[in-house]
Amino acid sequence: MANKDPRTKYHQDGFNKQKQAYPGLQGEMDFVPDCGEESYVGSGKLNGLKALISGGDSGIGRATAIAYAREGADVAITYLDDEEQDAQEVKRYIEEAGQKAVLIPGDLRDEQFARDVVGESVEKLGGLDVLVLNAGYQQWQPDLQDYTLEHMTDTFTINVFSQVFMMQEAEKHMKPGGSIILTTSIQAFSPANILMDYAMTKSAQVSLIKSLMTPFIQKGIRINGVAPGPVWTALQISGGQPQEKVANFGESSPLGRAGQPAELAAVYVLLASEEASFITGEVYGVTGGGPIV
Ligand code: NAD
Ligand code: MG
Repeated sequence: MANKDPRTKYHQDGFNKQKQAYPGLQGEMDFVPDCGEESYVGSGKLNGLKALISGGDSGIGRATAIAYAREGADVAITYLDDEEQDAQEVKRYIEEAGQKAVLIPGDLRDEQFARDVVGESVEKLGGLDVLVLNAGYQQWQPDLQDYTLEHMTDTFTINVFSQVFMMQEAEKHMKPGGSIILTTSIQAFSPANILMDYAMTKSAQVSLIKSLMTPFIQKGIRINGVAPGPVWTALQISGGQPQEKVANFGESSPLGRAGQPAELAAVYVLLASEEASFITGEVYGVTGGGPIV
């Protein structure tokens, strides 16, 4: 059987305008993102591994959590208190795959939480092989003059500083063979002016990957990034984009449509798996054709 045409494999007719308060609930979106719930088929690529995924309740993190569980990993996810409903669904999918699910709600703006979440995962999962730093904060601003210290501090704290704290803790527990994966963005390479601070944090993540590659590989741990292009998720409709961009979200990508989180999962699986043993310090674009150079 031939592969499907990527232009038409997923939804491509635009979206209804819709706005939720940050962080947004995926389950209440008009056109619920496809995280592979009905489609992802595992083949034992991550058998026996223990993974922690930040922001694993929805979107790209959820697609990763479902794929990891179906590949044989036990999975802990973090999320915000308001996202309990989405998180419970992910727990169900992980358990239906026959794996252990650990839910850890909390706000990554809190340094202590960012640190504690790693120890709690190690304790409840019985170790840590894969750390996916995926939680992210994106709130568009119309103009340079609109960026406040408070706004930029939130963006940098969630997107960059919490990742550093989590890696500091993870370094104490992860063993050779471990893998760290950061969700960066095409915004690191082609920044939009309305996402100025967000784009800076995504570039900072690329820099983190390059900075930490040598010390981590000296411990046998690989660190890589995934740079998504436009992907239909709760982040976009809860302040990530102005409403007029929600309606035709993703249509300006060369592929002509938004990506679905399900289309990212295979890359996170590869980077976590033993098959990626010679891959470190890399950033993989999954953009529908947008450049990441
Ligand atoms: P999403 O809203 O489904 O997931 C983001 C998650 O981040 C939320 O579910 C939430 O649990 C978590 N989060 C946000 N603020 C937090 C806080 N203060 N404390 C703890 N957790 C917090 O959206 P998504 O698009 O799947 O986002 C996942 C990652 O992908 C983010 O890092 C985002 O920047 C990145 N990304 C997304 C796109 C896209 O088009 N959707 C493109 C490039 C990169
Ligand atoms: Mg969410």
